[in-house]
Amino acid sequence: MFSINLMASPGAGKTSLIEKTLPRLKGKLRVAVIDGDIATSIDSDRAAAAGAQAAIQINTGGDCHLDAIMLRGALDQLDLTQFDLLIVENVGNLVCPASFNLGTQKSILVASIPEGDDKPYKYPGMYRGVDALVINKIDLLPYVPFRMDYFKRGVQILNPGVITFPLSCRTDEGLDAWIEWLIQNVKRVT
Ligand code: MG
Repeated sequence: MFSINLMASPGAGKTSLIEKTLPRLKGKLRVAVIDGDIATSIDSDRAAAAGAQAAIQINTGGDCHLDAIMLRGALDQLDLTQFDLLIVENVGNLVCPASFNLGTQKSILVASIPEGDDKPYKYPGMYRGVDALVINKIDLLPYVPFRMDYFKRGVQILNPGVITFPLSCRTDEGLDAWIEWLIQNVKRVT
């Protein structure tokens, strides 16, 4: 099984990305989703509705990140032989999740245009540690003062050459490259 840890600030589009990803993997990969949030099962409900073969919610009750022990508790509820891909959606936060290794093969950061172009400079720990970077909400670029050059320069300083997927979960622009990358990574391990 290939597994990813999706991290982002609240509202960047982690759950939206999962919702857009699942239908595109239908019939190709068997996917389990584990969602971390302070409270509610809103996100795991959305993942189940989007076609996840399994969707488990972890409520941290206040903790600002998932850790490997919480994840283990959720994994114990799954028959791991039944899945090709595990998507873990971490608690929305650009600080704490970066410090807790969950044991997933790849860490992925979902940045988004409305957050502002200064985030790599202000949250270096998060940007430094990820294996891939999704830049969501590119459909908002005409309406938001976001200097892509400045943003990418910050990313380049912290994480040279990190694979980057600019996309929009609203218009679907750029989603194909992300899906292809996921499929190729699953193929590499399964
Ligand atoms: Mg979410």
